[in-house]
Amino acid sequence: MNLSNAVISRVSMTLKTPFHTSLGTVTDREGIVIELYDNEGQCGLGEGVAFSTPWYTEETVESSLTVIRHQLLPLLFQEPISHPEDLEGRLSSVRGNPMAKASVDMAVWDLFAKQQGVPLSSCIGGTRTHALAGVAIGSKDLPDLIEQAEQAQKQGYQRVKVKIRPGYDIEPLTVLRSRLPDIHILADANSAYSGYTEDLLALDDLGLQMIEQPFAPDDLAEHAAIQRRMKTPICLDESINSYSAAVNAVSFKSCRVINLKIGRVGGITAARKIHDLCMVHDIQVWCGGMLEFGISRAHNVSLSLLPGFTIPGDLSASSRYWAEDITTPELVVNEGVVKPFSGNGIGVELNRRRLDEVTIERFEYKK
Ligand SMILES: [Mg+2]
Repeated sequence: MNLSNAVISRVSMTLKTPFHTSLGTVTDREGIVIELYDNEGQCGLGEGVAFSTPWYTEETVESSLTVIRHQLLPLLFQEPISHPEDLEGRLSSVRGNPMAKASVDMAVWDLFAKQQGVPLSSCIGGTRTHALAGVAIGSKDLPDLIEQAEQAQKQGYQRVKVKIRPGYDIEPLTVLRSRLPDIHILADANSAYSGYTEDLLALDDLGLQMIEQPFAPDDLAEHAAIQRRMKTPICLDESINSYSAAVNAVSFKSCRVINLKIGRVGGITAARKIHDLCMVHDIQVWCGGMLEFGISRAHNVSLSLLPGFTIPGDLSASSRYWAEDITTPELVVNEGVVKPFSGNGIGVELNRRRLDEVTIERFEYKK
């Protein structure tokens, strides 16, 4: 692929509205932007989606930057690669760190598609004409939840995702269900229900679309046990941090749905393999969000055009989170539908002025 150099920017932007989960509140979002250049000056874009602190997964912005700079880029530039799928093997001497790896993987895939002169979605087997969008609501209390959910429905979203925890579940979900009878409701627990199985079972008659990640990420057995007792599908998010983790979850029957995040599973190559696995085993799959910037959002759209993405993902409009995104054009959702970006690769370009405004650190890596 004739790689020349990479420019890495650490960015920070304030969310329009703070995002609340059972594990904490996000007000400012840091991220990592990777520009990967070839000898002709073509640029592939990747984004690191770890958070500033390890509340969601072990990785952080700081740890990702260290691994990208001192491990992954030297391996990437060590010798030429001919195809993005070669990358997994190349980076296998680095354990874990899927979000750091995914940021590099995204940039390589985007550059590869641009070199081929095609959209990334065609490169990876996308067949859908549009992607389906839902919205994740991290609300501070019940009135806030209802207001945000009603707004989302007015904007045409087909599904809302609500953050729940023991003590804040059956009441808000029941009120929401009666106020918005037609919308799909997904309840995301971010692992808050270890030890609260009865609370969870009480939610089984609410007609929820699914309950996401009730137990700890490595509790595949407990997830399998609750799935056997509930008619509501269990969806795994944090548990699925690699292709192997997805194979285990499917083998143990720990879930009927997988929330697939490119960053969390180590990149597009792994995400596509998990998508294919889900299709073979009749597991529903949708694309999750990480409160990310426009680069990762555009990669998510490309991934969501694969044939298995038949239910709405977290493809919220850029304007829902940011006053101005770092890419252009921004992601727009109409009636719960995202039309793919046009152009080669992921179909978005950097908004240089905005990127510079929000960059707090930058370095270049050369061969
Ligand atoms: Mg989740």
